[in-house]
Amino acid sequence: MNSKVYIETFGCQMNVADTERAVTGLRKAGYEMTSLPNEADVVLLNTCSVRERAERKVFRRVSELRKSPRHPVIGVMGCVAQLEGSSIFQRASAVDLVIGTQATDRIPSLLARIRDGEESVLDLDERQEGEVWDVSPAERRSPYVAFVPIIEGCNKFCSFCIVPYSRGREKSRGANEIVAEVQQLRSLGYKEVQLIGQNVNSYRPKTEDGLEGYAGATAFSRLLRAVAETGIERIKFTTSFPRDFHPDIVSAIEEYPNLCNWVHLPVQSGSDRMLKAMRRGHTSADYLRRVEIIKSSSRSLALTSDIIVGFPGESEQDFADTMKLVRDCEFDGLFIFKYSKRSRTPAANFDDAVSESDKTARFLALEELQIELQDKTYNRQVGRALSVLVEKQSARSNEDVSGHSTCNKVVNFKGNTTQRGSIVDVLISEAKPNSLYGTAISG
Ligand code: SF4
Repeated sequence: MNSKVYIETFGCQMNVADTERAVTGLRKAGYEMTSLPNEADVVLLNTCSVRERAERKVFRRVSELRKSPRHPVIGVMGCVAQLEGSSIFQRASAVDLVIGTQATDRIPSLLARIRDGEESVLDLDERQEGEVWDVSPAERRSPYVAFVPIIEGCNKFCSFCIVPYSRGREKSRGANEIVAEVQQLRSLGYKEVQLIGQNVNSYRPKTEDGLEGYAGATAFSRLLRAVAETGIERIKFTTSFPRDFHPDIVSAIEEYPNLCNWVHLPVQSGSDRMLKAMRRGHTSADYLRRVEIIKSSSRSLALTSDIIVGFPGESEQDFADTMKLVRDCEFDGLFIFKYSKRSRTPAANFDDAVSESDKTARFLALEELQIELQDKTYNRQVGRALSVLVEKQSARSNEDVSGHSTCNKVVNFKGNTTQRGSIVDVLISEAKPNSLYGTAISG
């Protein structure tokens, strides 16, 4: 069989990792992949449902694909598939296949059912015993940096968030499997692994297999040590959940230089009233205690976060509390979102919506503050040497290359693309709003 498959991926790094896994399975089953939707026999849309706008985009895309003269089999996979299920067939009759978030490994057998004449094939079942995360190196999006999922799903049920419904409950991968994957990546020449999951530090595998012998207060900090022992050059992890952020994570980073000096710890608001309404399970004081531990580390840890402005009921005072927390934390980076209602989440029924104009005003005020603070945090890097993994030619100049530091900042410096994949020490000479510039002093 020589059917060609095209996959379009929307959303977060978990979806990128799922696409890599889907492609691995499809190739094993004899499918060819194509980067051209027009020549595909099968088109799969790997979807995101975090925002309603993203969901609408999927249906627009299906109606465009329907017009393709090749009449490909159209499948919807990912979060929209899991949430909308069979209603997708009613809403978009051109869709042949709906693949839930835990059915990625079963795509070849679902396509076989369509080939055998079945219509409207749906699989929203859980992952089956024995289905392992299997990603062929050839399918990874980068030859130097690999995403390694360690946990999927979420049990936290923040009131604004759809993820627990679209990705299901938390399920952790066994430590042995994760460590073996990292060892394999290292032997293939990968320089960096990013351990990913909705909440990596809620990692709780079914057994201790692979974690025995590692000291640590939580399964996650033991896993960090086990992965660090593989000797891979750089390890990053994201995203961390504040309530489960144990100080021992910082201790592990201090023990192992290959655990990178960056923590992404979303706070979402600086107001305790809003944090309660968001059902985050932490207060601003709890969060600041963790920040204190992170900031006092000898590793100069970079700290980034997410904030939602304009959550239902957010008053000027609540927003002032957020501004204060941001000033106190001096984040190295901040993703700011204007709250948008996500149907089927508890917050969708909350009264007291904040007007669009207030949301925009708060967004801009917070952005301005972050620019001012980031100018300080970035300028502190001037005169320091940062270790940079070279990833590509810089977008701004043919003479420069660009990569990320261990503290996850974009660094540009004079170099050439033969350096791609190498780790270079760069002396920082200039701070720009979202990147640093410097000169190579090694490599
Ligand atoms: S912790 Fe909250 S925001 Fe993060 S994925 Fe879970 S429910 Fe969503």
